Amino acid sequence: MAEEMGAVRIEYEKAFRVNVSTKIHPKTRPKPRNAPAGPSPFAVNAPALPPAKFADPDWTAQGEPRASVPLIAIETLWLNTGTLCNLACATCYIESSPTNDALVYLSAEHAAEFYDEAQGLGTREIGFTGGEPFMNPAFLPMLTDALERGFEALVLTNAMKPMRRHEEALLLLRERFGDRLTLRVSLDHHTKAGHEGERGPNSWDVGLGGLRWLSGNNFSIAVAGRLLPGEDMGEARALYGQLFEREGIAIDAGDPMRLVLFPEMDATRDIAEITTACWDILGKSPSDIMCATSRMVVHRKGEERPRVAACTLIPHDPEFDLGDNLAEAARAVKLNHPHCARFCVLGGASCSG
Ligand code: SF4
Repeated sequence: MAEEMGAVRIEYEKAFRVNVSTKIHPKTRPKPRNAPAGPSPFAVNAPALPPAKFADPDWTAQGEPRASVPLIAIETLWLNTGTLCNLACATCYIESSPTNDALVYLSAEHAAEFYDEAQGLGTREIGFTGGEPFMNPAFLPMLTDALERGFEALVLTNAMKPMRRHEEALLLLRERFGDRLTLRVSLDHHTKAGHEGERGPNSWDVGLGGLRWLSGNNFSIAVAGRLLPGEDMGEARALYGQLFEREGIAIDAGDPMRLVLFPEMDATRDIAEITTACWDILGKSPSDIMCATSRMVVHRKGEERPRVAACTLIPHDPEFDLGDNLAEAARAVKLNHPHCARFCVLGGASCSG
């Protein structure tokens, strides 16, 4: 079994140029022109991850039983529309960029197959993430299909040119489906320097302009932001609030559903492993974790059809590939990745609205 896993890993590593065995995704691709010049202001400051950690799906490096998360129901089904993006952010966990198509564009036909299955399972919401979803030529048809079937839709976007090309279509969807359509805009920081340090030059004014346009046209909107190392959550919310007021953006910065401030991720930096004892120690339940209530569809380059990953955060690791349909993907997820610890259990964030 271990040998089989090893062979699968080598194939993935060849295909996607990632090193899944150590959970490290090396930055091997050349930097696009619009990438930020320096290191990310959000970089995680911690020692390197010891190789013995997150090596065995069942046991931690210290020989304790690893925690897992059973699926309760797929309340949110995420579709990764493809990794191509107009930006090349410094610490994009999925390495989206104008040239990375490791996850190819999902087709509307494949999306529809998963909608069929999700409808039978009582899924409430379809989430769309990328890359930048509006880059995918089939995105509007697949979004419309989801809304017409009665799902709620949550679209993660940078609100820049790829989205602005579709203003007319978006206004129509707003008119037809009202608040069932929510757009969550990534505004990494409440300052231009923080945002552009991560997202590259000339990304602030354009992104803010897109957010103003959405707000001015009464879309249901939210913002996804981040905290600089040591930045206080309350203070950051207050400063985002001042920005929204200045810019005329109708978001209550005190509402954690409308301003989502995410913890940082870095699979190369040290973090505690999550054992079965952690739930009691932390006062948390497996049902609080994102993979208890969601899955993500990804279409990897070179694969004939899309597959189902445990969550939005780990699209390539074969340990988190759960099958080619939702029924098959209903099994428990072993928390054998640094993102499980840093982002989900210890960071306490969820990707869903
Ligand atoms: S990263 Fe989070 S949501 Fe994904 S498998 Fe790990 S615990 Fe679950």
